[in-house]
Amino acid sequence: MKLSYLKKWALITFLLQFLVSLTLQANQEVLSSYRVDSPTEQQLAEIAARYEIASREGASYEVVVPRIFKSNFLKIAPEAQLVTEDLREELVQSLARNQDYLADYRSYDQVYSYLQGIAERYPQIATLQTYGKSSKGNPLYVLKLTNKNSRFSSKPALLIDAATHGDEIITTEVLLRLLEQLVQGYGNDAEITRFIDRTTLLFVPVVNADGFVSRNRYESGYTDPNRSYPYPGEPSRKPATCIAALISLANQERIAGALDIHAYGELIMYPWAYTTVPIDEAATQKDFDSLTTAMSANNGYKHGQISKLIYVAKGSSADYYYWKMGTLAIALEIGRSKAPAGREIERQVTAIKPALWTFIRRFAG
Ligand SMILES: [Zn+2]
Repeated sequence: MKLSYLKKWALITFLLQFLVSLTLQANQEVLSSYRVDSPTEQQLAEIAARYEIASREGASYEVVVPRIFKSNFLKIAPEAQLVTEDLREELVQSLARNQDYLADYRSYDQVYSYLQGIAERYPQIATLQTYGKSSKGNPLYVLKLTNKNSRFSSKPALLIDAATHGDEIITTEVLLRLLEQLVQGYGNDAEITRFIDRTTLLFVPVVNADGFVSRNRYESGYTDPNRSYPYPGEPSRKPATCIAALISLANQERIAGALDIHAYGELIMYPWAYTTVPIDEAATQKDFDSLTTAMSANNGYKHGQISKLIYVAKGSSADYYYWKMGTLAIALEIGRSKAPAGREIERQVTAIKPALWTFIRRFAG
């Protein structure tokens, strides 16, 4: 009796300690954002090496800094202005405050039921699969769109993904609404029918499921998933859990092209990101340039090499899928906000649609 009483207390103490450690962990992972205007080249290089630059407008940079590294950051950039103390908290509050937001942004469960609905409504062209699990065990979903009875034997597979950063929730909504237009257009719109007959479109609306669920930018800790890919300077590094799963999917499907959707900045970009040196192959460089020029024809987005358009970033998706798999890999930064009011979503869909169609057309012939 006495022993089981002790055991019970031991268990309760253990659980309490566990809860306290969880709370501490959550407190440590607060991310703030700062604005740095006109940094020197040296400052910019030091900032980019240690922190994530989330966006750039002219000479103004938005930098994401874990709160515990605040003083280290301010030593590099003493003139930086605090924009948001707690990025996650701000997003959670605006979602709770604004009824528009609540109505228009889907939760992770709603994303799943929506994809399931598509697979049920369009069984001849759509398949929903799980391709792995996040670090917290959330299932990772890919919706495969292709004519299953197509007479075309070799169909290029294209990876089209969103929400690698869990707080960029506009990217998931835009992707899902464009997916809806594609399934509805099949058999009704000649070009969409050709896309789905001749390619395999792999839609991953949420890459970073843990971040999306908790409205957190990163999957866990301070690891930016889009700086966790191996790259030529560090070929054997271990990517974030959700990125490792995405890489396996890309390998398994032998993708020919990749479109990684982020927010924000109104930019359409290609490798390299890890260096300002242009890619070796002149023909591919030309291909990237003409593709991104065409993709920006309707929306006026800036286009070009990532490291030149924003800054040097090591370990990002476009570099990986080009370097390892020889694909045309594009990074797209949509709009002017990571989570604009609900009424803005449709405007972003209209801006991105011609860019996505142009991207698919490049492979569908
Ligand atoms: Zn992003």
